[in-house]
Amino acid sequence: MEKKELWQAVLAKIELALSRPNFLTWFQDTGVKSVDRGVALVCVPNGFAKEWLQNKYHRAILSALRELSPEIREVNFVIAKPEDSLPPFPATEKQKAALLKKKALDGLSGEELPSLRELAVNPETNLNPKYTFTDFVVGSFNELAHAAAQSVLKSPGTVYNPLFIYGGVGLGKTHLIQAIGNEFLKRNPGSRVRYVTSEKYMGEIVEALKNQEMNALKEKYRSADLLIVDDIQFMARTEKMQEEFFHTFNALFDKNKQMIISSDRPPQAIPTLEERLRSRFEGGMLADIGLPDFETRFLILKNKAEQKGVVIPEPALTSVAEAIKNNIRELEGALNRIVISAKLSNAPITVEGAKKILVQYLAAPKKFSSPRKIIKAITEFYEVSEKDLLTRSRKKDFVRPRQIAMYLMRQELKSSYPSIGDKFGGRDHTTVMHSYEKIAEEMKTNPELEEELRLIKDRIFLE
Ligand code: ADP
Ligand code: MG
Repeated sequence: MEKKELWQAVLAKIELALSRPNFLTWFQDTGVKSVDRGVALVCVPNGFAKEWLQNKYHRAILSALRELSPEIREVNFVIAKPEDSLPPFPATEKQKAALLKKKALDGLSGEELPSLRELAVNPETNLNPKYTFTDFVVGSFNELAHAAAQSVLKSPGTVYNPLFIYGGVGLGKTHLIQAIGNEFLKRNPGSRVRYVTSEKYMGEIVEALKNQEMNALKEKYRSADLLIVDDIQFMARTEKMQEEFFHTFNALFDKNKQMIISSDRPPQAIPTLEERLRSRFEGGMLADIGLPDFETRFLILKNKAEQKGVVIPEPALTSVAEAIKNNIRELEGALNRIVISAKLSNAPITVEGAKKILVQYLAAPKKFSSPRKIIKAITEFYEVSEKDLLTRSRKKDFVRPRQIAMYLMRQELKSSYPSIGDKFGGRDHTTVMHSYEKIAEEMKTNPELEEELRLIKDRIFLE
């Protein structure tokens, strides 16, 4: 089969599985450059599309190719123009542009490949299956918390209730408590495990009050066999919530049902936490997570690289582990940058290359720290104009990118809600808050969105 025909047949297959805008967005201007000794080289218009196709559609493309041409065993992507630019899309340029604008805005969910779907949050428990003990590295910084977790799994509801885990940002609290939930479920199939962040819990209470569904909500949490509440420090902000949680706590406690709570600080350091809750928390087991030492940081990096299936020279891992001390999430972030930039330049990872990226990464907060950069990245990614983004149009095409821009400004720059509102045509701070929370919430259940944001951030970083 001719290369051109082959690719058109592949596209025909893939098109069936995707929404039209999505298909156009990612497969426009692609082609097969060569098929040589079982390796198909697919050309894509830019590094961005390359990254996306590689991560997301690699399997779909390979299986479509193999069905048509069984000798193909591997597919690689290269940034290049297809030789014969084919006109497979009957849409006019204008239609195409309009569709492109919708890019990734909608239609993404439900079409993701199994690899991503597997990682989706379980709607029943709200647990993310990606958090397991298998890839949780234990060192002196977290061994107390880890040991307490194991005891709780062995004798839930009796030894340590609640188990209260606290520690700084990005040090593995969420990972650990979700791993407990997943493990508990494995050991006790059919049991009712509920994981909730205190922010989500608060939202649920507000909703339930509005819709007069408070009893159902009470039932949802009071019938749990294991209740996990993440980031409880935020709960202390409202009385109503503390009140509600207090009763839930007691109900579960009386039934010897295990509770696990996380916080960024110990109970006595949460200023507005009610006394009665504080004393209950302190009556359980308090376990802190400290800072990982160098060996642990190195080991974490090594494991993550292995999981990703990439080879990184040890001295490169050493420099990353030496440079980033306080936050495991950042450690992973640095590793991801190194892997991505090697992928984009199609070169193996070298010590020098890794160091260069690391320097950039460490400088990135400064580099990143401008609303301008965020706005520019958003307008480019979603192909909307700055004017549409910043002014008051309510069209769906603009609302979503705007919400994401607001989210990023809050998340990455820690800008205040009112100041973000000012940048977007003097919007009220509550609008900004709402946008932020909406995206933050969706991030938890939508791996596509997480990916999308990562790509937007990488764009800013790699430019
Ligand atoms: P926190 O909830 O304390 O802010 P997270 O649990 O979200 O932190 O952890 C941040 C990132 O670091 C996650 O991707 C998590 O998987 C990873 N991580 C944290 N602790 C460990 C560990 N001990 N071993 C491996 N990965 C870890
Ligand atoms: Mg967390």
